[in-house]
Amino acid sequence: EHNNSNNFIRSIIKEDLATGKRTHVTTRFPPEPNGYLHIGHAKSIIINFDLADEFKGTTNLRFDDTNPLKEDTEYVNAIKEDVEWLGYEWDNLFFASDYFEEMYERALLLIKKGKAYVDDLSPDEIREYRGTLKEPGKDSPHRDRSVEENLDLFKRMRDGEFKNGEKVLRAKIDMSSPNINMRDPVLYRISHATHHNTGDKWCLYPVYAYAHPLEDAIEDVTHSLCTTEFEDQRPLYNWVVAECEMDSQPQQIEFGRLNLTSVSFMSKRKLKLLVDEGIVDGWDDPRMPTISGLRRKGYTASAIRTFCRELGVSKGDGAVDARMLDHFVREDLKLTCPRTMGIVRPLKVVITNYPEGQVEYLDAEINPENPEMGLRQIPFSREIYIEQEDFMENPPNKYFRLFPGNEVRLKHAYFIKCEDVVKDDQGQVVEIHCTYDIETKSGTGFTGRKVKGTIHWVEASQAVPAEFRLYQPLVLAEENNGIAKGTEETVEVTEAEEKDGTVETNNGAEKTFLDTINPNSLQRLNGFVEPNMKGAQPQDKFQFFRHGYFNVDSKDTTADKLVFNEIVSLKSSFTL
Ligand code: ATP
Ligand code: MG
Ligand code: MG
Repeated sequence: EHNNSNNFIRSIIKEDLATGKRTHVTTRFPPEPNGYLHIGHAKSIIINFDLADEFKGTTNLRFDDTNPLKEDTEYVNAIKEDVEWLGYEWDNLFFASDYFEEMYERALLLIKKGKAYVDDLSPDEIREYRGTLKEPGKDSPHRDRSVEENLDLFKRMRDGEFKNGEKVLRAKIDMSSPNINMRDPVLYRISHATHHNTGDKWCLYPVYAYAHPLEDAIEDVTHSLCTTEFEDQRPLYNWVVAECEMDSQPQQIEFGRLNLTSVSFMSKRKLKLLVDEGIVDGWDDPRMPTISGLRRKGYTASAIRTFCRELGVSKGDGAVDARMLDHFVREDLKLTCPRTMGIVRPLKVVITNYPEGQVEYLDAEINPENPEMGLRQIPFSREIYIEQEDFMENPPNKYFRLFPGNEVRLKHAYFIKCEDVVKDDQGQVVEIHCTYDIETKSGTGFTGRKVKGTIHWVEASQAVPAEFRLYQPLVLAEENNGIAKGTEETVEVTEAEEKDGTVETNNGAEKTFLDTINPNSLQRLNGFVEPNMKGAQPQDKFQFFRHGYFNVDSKDTTADKLVFNEIVSLKSSFTL
């Protein structure tokens, strides 16, 4: 199933095995359990698991849970479900928080070696002292504390003697390094908060930049794959592994993150905001780019895997046309999905010359592209539903569907001709009266005359009520263009800072983001489907003739009401 597109990481691994630098391959997928996974994470999962698999190695699912404030068991469970659904089995399940004691011991070692010190500067002062790209940083007045004093203070930090933000542990590296990440980065911070795994055992937490390399080394990860925003942190990653005297030497390798043209909001922070503000119906809302949202919408795991593999692995992170993913979804569904007919905006049609009380059953192919799927029987009688838009009283030129005096083909059934129109008091058309021609029955090879339009329909007396949910992008099109053109929003908060919760995120930016929400992203329509759909189960997928692919909603479908989510339309102008 692997693809052979360019993958520079594969080349590195091959070389490492060939030269004997490595004798095994271990990768990991290290999500922070602070939200649900999105399609960008799928790329990371697929790269990590596929590469290890290719070289008969192993992959750990490791929860990078070093920030008590944002993490939750709900997220842990959702992440496991998503990884499994994508089709992967982890070799080991680990929690970074299980390594807190070892990380602490390694910090004591750093202090003893004179490589770390306790600082009393506030987070703001630390930023200020750190300098800029053009200016070197300044030493903290506490940089030259003795080893004894540092050991004593650090232990007291662990014992809870200090408040949040009062003290931190910093690496002692180089305040004038051209790489700002090396200017005595913070290693530990105080946070009096209950952790989802360790409860109240700790009030001292390692920051991402210190914890992550140790986690990798503890697990004997060989190739630690992450996205390019961590490139600048690689020297620090190597410093931590070396100075902490870890036996194992993992190698950090960065690849380009996945961005989609239609999804400018692919970060857990923004997704959480949409959930918290009630703009969507949870993390698995079908409009969300989350794996659970895509699943509920009806995307298949295999289409997501094919999509990510086709993208390959490179350093670039240009936005990918979201229609490419839809293309693979269609490819995946077209041969397996049963075809059916459904009416999303019903209009009653009475066939006045069809005998009252009679019902006949017509044969219809389940999938003309895959004849092995066989036939289904669909009822036909005097009353049927068609789409409102398949009738016009005063049609424009080239309208080939129903209008007074015109004849169309009913898919799998007969030709019908519009004879009369019934209106309500307001002049709205509420019913159409037609006649049918028994000679024109589908499958009999009738060639007497031709009609230009074929429309779909559902027999009325046995029609099953159904809700159809049609989707538009959650964020207005022009707002997404920014990403398409590569003008990413300015990032005020670095990835590592966000991970550690050491800075508050910019609320102004979040407000602006909420202003871009498309108010018409969900349309709910009440219509009908064929009676043989009665037994449809959540997550069953169908191709509705002339409408597109739909998935039975797993949350809102009940015994009495089927709810269908639009997966993708039938066609797209997109070509690979
Ligand atoms: P977000 O920025 O969306 O909140 P994150 O990077 O904070 O996500 P983590 O849980 O820390 O999420 O990430 C787990 C792994 O997934 C990391 O290795 C990260 O690099 C990778 N990852 C996250 N987003 C993407 C993306 N858009 N494309 C590829 N990989 C990604
Ligand atoms: Mg991120
Ligand atoms: Mg994050």
